[in-house]
Amino acid sequence: MKAFLGAALRSRDVPHAILLTGEDTESFLAIARAFGAALLCEDPQEGEDGVPCACGVCASCMKIAAGDHPDFIEAQHEKPGSFGVDDVRRLRQDVRIKPYSGDFKIYLLPDAEKLTAQAQNALLKTLEEPPDYAVLILAAKDDAGFLPTVLSRCVRLPGRPMPEEELKEFLMKSGAAEAEAELLAGLSGGSPGRAMAMAADETFFPFVRQSVRLFDGLANTGIRAIADFLKESVTEERQQYFVELLRMWCRDALAAKRAGAAASLIFGEEIHNISTSAALSFGALAAVDEATLLALRRLRAKGNADLILELMLLRVREAMREG
Ligand SMILES: [Zn+2]
Repeated sequence: MKAFLGAALRSRDVPHAILLTGEDTESFLAIARAFGAALLCEDPQEGEDGVPCACGVCASCMKIAAGDHPDFIEAQHEKPGSFGVDDVRRLRQDVRIKPYSGDFKIYLLPDAEKLTAQAQNALLKTLEEPPDYAVLILAAKDDAGFLPTVLSRCVRLPGRPMPEEELKEFLMKSGAAEAEAELLAGLSGGSPGRAMAMAADETFFPFVRQSVRLFDGLANTGIRAIADFLKESVTEERQQYFVELLRMWCRDALAAKRAGAAASLIFGEEIHNISTSAALSFGALAAVDEATLLALRRLRAKGNADLILELMLLRVREAMREG
């Protein structure tokens, strides 16, 4: 994604339609904004590998930062759940107006996976005969809902998850402590945007601590307390993280079993009672791991999440009780 956009910036040979796909929408929008800013900047600077980047201080850059550049338009959709044909019509009318200054007029369409089939057909007309200056950047979670006719007119740039080590370094440079960075890198599935959102959420780390404590004491926890914890602390958007946390807990226990005090752990001793979990047998930890994998598969298949998590914890409790 970055290599392609960098080459387009160097040559100023920019495709009329670009489709960015992947889960990490926040990062894609940041990339698309940086790309647009560099393309429109009045005094582009030389960045990494000779790729031009926005100066950040010219009139154009200031307008983009303030969100009111007439040639950099973030398309809106009226209904939150769908990007409809009326939204696209508004955009098409605007495309006909020449750029205010410079060679390009850039449209960013976030949530492009919400474009209805009708809206896509309307958009197709612009994609088929775009004015020279028009650049449409569509950012979507995936390309499953797109018409083949639309896909064939877009340069498709799928995002790849950032490797965990690289993401951890990036987060540490952004100010996260090492243990925090490691945790966020592991939980975010290689998505810097998601990791940054978790870091900014002040309830996230308390949730992590409470979850780890629950896992530590699970052998002696009653079914009512388990159900209450799930109901109160594990909100819908945290269900998958909750399972990932249990996988990390299990990883720590295995590391401590193998390397003892020398093990490098994800959760610090102040939250993870590692001597208890490391005392579990390899068989028990394998059963925990298996239960988490099963839960992830079931969550992906959109089963009843409360039930899936409760069954997972009961299976883990059983394994811990057996030792
Ligand atoms: Zn500038």
